[in-house]
Amino acid sequence: MGAHAAPGKQGSLTVALAGNPNSGKTSLFNRLTGSHQHVGNWPGVTVERKEGLCYFAEPPATVVDLPGTYSLTANSADERVARDFVLHGGADAVIAVVDAGNLERNLYLVVQLIELGAPLVMALNMCDLAEGRGFAINVTQLADLLDLPVVATCATRGDGVAELWETAERVAREGRRPRPLPYGRQVDEAVESVARSLEALPELTGEHPSRWLAISLLIGDESHLPPSKEADPVIQHALATARANARHLEDVTGDTAEAAVIHGRYGAISGVYREAVVEPDDAHLTPSDRLDHVFLHRIWGVPILLAALAVMFQLTFWVGSLPSRWLEAGCTRLGGYVAGLMPRGPLESLMVDGIIGGVGGVLVFLPQIAILFAVVAFLEDSGYMARAAFLMDRVMHRMSLHGKAFIPMIMGFGCNVPAIMATRTLESERDRLLTVLITPLMTCSARLPVYALLAGALFGPRAGLVILSLYVLGVGLAAIVARVFRRHVLPGEEEPFVLELPPYHRPTLKGIVVHTWERAKLFLQKASTVILAGSVIMWFLSAFPWGVQVAGEHSYAGQIGKLLAPLVAPLGLSWREAVALMFGFVAKEIVVSTMGVLYGLGDQAQPGDIGRIIAHGPLTPLSGYAFMVFTLIYTPCLAAIAAIRRETNSWKWALFAVGYLLLLAWIAAFVIYQGGRLLRLG
Ligand code: GDP
Ligand code: MG
Repeated sequence: MGAHAAPGKQGSLTVALAGNPNSGKTSLFNRLTGSHQHVGNWPGVTVERKEGLCYFAEPPATVVDLPGTYSLTANSADERVARDFVLHGGADAVIAVVDAGNLERNLYLVVQLIELGAPLVMALNMCDLAEGRGFAINVTQLADLLDLPVVATCATRGDGVAELWETAERVAREGRRPRPLPYGRQVDEAVESVARSLEALPELTGEHPSRWLAISLLIGDESHLPPSKEADPVIQHALATARANARHLEDVTGDTAEAAVIHGRYGAISGVYREAVVEPDDAHLTPSDRLDHVFLHRIWGVPILLAALAVMFQLTFWVGSLPSRWLEAGCTRLGGYVAGLMPRGPLESLMVDGIIGGVGGVLVFLPQIAILFAVVAFLEDSGYMARAAFLMDRVMHRMSLHGKAFIPMIMGFGCNVPAIMATRTLESERDRLLTVLITPLMTCSARLPVYALLAGALFGPRAGLVILSLYVLGVGLAAIVARVFRRHVLPGEEEPFVLELPPYHRPTLKGIVVHTWERAKLFLQKASTVILAGSVIMWFLSAFPWGVQVAGEHSYAGQIGKLLAPLVAPLGLSWREAVALMFGFVAKEIVVSTMGVLYGLGDQAQPGDIGRIIAHGPLTPLSGYAFMVFTLIYTPCLAAIAAIRRETNSWKWALFAVGYLLLLAWIAAFVIYQGGRLLRLG
């Protein structure tokens, strides 16, 4: 942070008052300074500058009444004066004066002051009027969410003014700045990426808060860079990063980067406001508010969310199954074609059974995964995903999970690896570790092929509901595990948080396509590297020693599976499933390709016939469900383990995650299988 606000020059403080016009700044200024005022002009502009001495302070302190503005975007002289004073004017603390009866609109300026990294205290002024109009404002919650002290005041009567001053002095002494507010994943990622590129410029970030500078660059304001910027390769790199991120933001939001940032601010404000304020019934409603009355309804909100998720998953499988069948037919023909080109032997087997069969078995799920990603992108871009997080939070907060954990958890439905990385938004080390540990319980897209294959084969038309139950089970287990770990592994305080609620927004086709493509690309990259390698290793273990029955009990795979068989027998599973799960350590998709080889080749079937074989194979719906539950819970893929190790910076926690998930998977599958048998379900 900047050295511009070093507290206590010779023990005498400077405190600035910032606020919207008519928020009561001047009234507060008069209360603080009495008649000791000096009125002049700000240098170079005809903006009135009011300064006074506060005599409650010991020694007396300087109070500056900044021009009243709605924002600090520097579009007008008033805004520039106010912003530059906060940035460079040597204020030891800034009092943000807000009109309690117009809080949502007034918070925009506060959010910008937070961006500027000012040591901040908020005067919730005109409390008398707001109360009279029926607003109920939870001051403690407001302070917690914004991470700054809030003092309720009535400037005309002088209520709260002494407390406000004491608080401002404390903030100035401690130099305490609020933590940044979340602006939504897309904006936050872009800002963080630019801020990281600025880390190489300590002289610049020493002078300006790096997050604010990053936002300025992202929205195309380069005026805070030094004049030497043309020649400096580090600055040029930061600029290039900012431009690339701005373009990406424009692509995914269908809006300018500046509009995306502004929406992000409004989203954060709306989240804070809705948590802390109960409005009178006759308050003015925006279209977004009206939609929120439906989607965030106390009783109907959660059922609507579950219905939306059920429709999403059913749609994914109905619409996706057609192109899946085309891909499947294509893989079968390609396998046949390649087999015809080569003499029979290990090499032909590697190509056809190992590579084409293994990778093909996963690729056929690409259409379904792409549709799921597209639906998720639609929900994200429309603003509904933020409501989903908000709703889930109410349920899950009681289970002692940090609210911000929901962003990574929801991302975990796509892929656990970026989700684990996204836990960086959690400030507290403990909350962050807890989130890292439970994120693997979110069904990532790699587990979907396993569910799709087994549920489709064993549960027919109810497959979508079975799959939904696994997603819900994962979330439920995460809540239980979080509760247990919070109490016994990582005890400590919970932090208040802000879940931003951006206004609803019509998603653009381009934004959805870009999002879907980015995520599908990750999946394809995995298919072409980790899954290819896993398929080849697995093919080797199942086809060798050469000449034994492929994947039979004498193959290497069979021998390892036999060793593991007693461990999975109580779960209703055989050595084949043990082998499939073993390979799932590499990447969960490989569970499918392993089954492709284990069932498909063992029975001389066409590649791609796995589903039909499973439907008539040894797995019953009950043991199949136990198998899916095991797949849901046990250890994440290698890439996720690597991410856990990197984010926790410790092998201990990575191994702890692997160990506890394996144990939990076994126990859950055991309870389901044996419980189901007791109830005569299979
Ligand atoms: P500024 O534009 O932010 O400097 O706001 P002023 O201090 O000029 O106040 C605008 C109007 O609001 C004046 O008429 C004040 O008397 C009135 N006002 C300021 N604070 C309060 C308050 O806490 N309660 C009530 N009822 N009126 C207030
Ligand atoms: Mg005024």
